[in-house]
Amino acid sequence: MSQVVRVAIGENFPEIQWPACCPECGTTKSLIRNTSRLGKVKSIRPNLQGGLTMKSEVMYLNYWICPQHAAETRWANRLLEKSPVMHLIRFIFYVGVVFAIGLIFGPRRLETFPDLGSLLALPLIGILGVASLIWARIATSVWPIRFDPDQDVIEIQFRQAPYATRFRVMNREATSAQNTEETPWYKRALLWKVIVIVLFIMFMARLMK
Ligand SMILES: [Zn+2]
Repeated sequence: MSQVVRVAIGENFPEIQWPACCPECGTTKSLIRNTSRLGKVKSIRPNLQGGLTMKSEVMYLNYWICPQHAAETRWANRLLEKSPVMHLIRFIFYVGVVFAIGLIFGPRRLETFPDLGSLLALPLIGILGVASLIWARIATSVWPIRFDPDQDVIEIQFRQAPYATRFRVMNREATSAQNTEETPWYKRALLWKVIVIVLFIMFMARLMK
């Protein structure tokens, strides 16, 4: 069973330590370093002038893995990556799947599908793409899921639970419950911003009727 570990980052915590073994098979021989992109990490800090500084940087995880499992995880993480290009590609996959569902359940008869010609590529790409995204979530040994913007916490999914335990032991302070505790939903600034925006849009829509 895979496990999600929350890790506190920032100047109050030491750099993330990685077990010197493969996260998938546990071997300690001929390990290589693998880098996965976590995405943008943002933090707002008071500065010396008395104002606030917004720090935003792209964070990478750099861990040990054996060559046999490196390729798989690298491919999977590329598909799941939080980068502008991959966001766009995943968006195309989802549009393709919506198109495919429309075709399958729509009024168009199967034998007329070839008439669509090159337009058929989109639903096909969508189905293959979404299937590969599902594969990637299952296949990745170390997946940097996201940065929690309400705290300076990142989430990493480990496919192998024993490795997740070793990781927790090596990063005891940064993974401790008190440092990574999830903000209750009603205290999440982002959530309230979304609610306010949605209410505002509904209000405007009503006004314009
Ligand atoms: Zn391995």
